[in-house]
Amino acid sequence: MGKISFWCDVCKIDQENTYMKNWCDYPSGRREWNESRCIKCKKKILRYITQRHLDPYWGRSAKAKREVIKYEKDLIQPDDPRFKKLYPRQYERLEAVKEANEKKKLDEIKKRDDMYKRFGHNTDRRKILSKLYNF
Ligand SMILES: [Zn+2]
Repeated sequence: MGKISFWCDVCKIDQENTYMKNWCDYPSGRREWNESRCIKCKKKILRYITQRHLDPYWGRSAKAKREVIKYEKDLIQPDDPRFKKLYPRQYERLEAVKEANEKKKLDEIKKRDDMYKRFGHNTDRRKILSKLYNF
């Protein structure tokens, strides 16, 4: 069985451990994660499989932080084709952030369209809306 990176927030250490997949069904869908036990304190430690970009490992692991500093130093930019291959995890994370921003933008546009549909036929309101939303 393979090993993956874990971080124990109690002991503050990185470790490469074997793991078990676990999951739970929520109204919004199934969430999956890999779990292991810390080599030192034996506390349960997790890595998210779904919602990967929310995995606390990214913000806490010293090893992940070192990797971030390293790729910043290498000056390989995220839009460089080599980036995806060299830093698959960071690439994934950046993509997740980009996706979230993209969705936010689409929501804004939809909100604007809905407002226009509802009030756009009324001249006075249209004037107000055009100021508010830059129609
Ligand atoms: Zn520990």
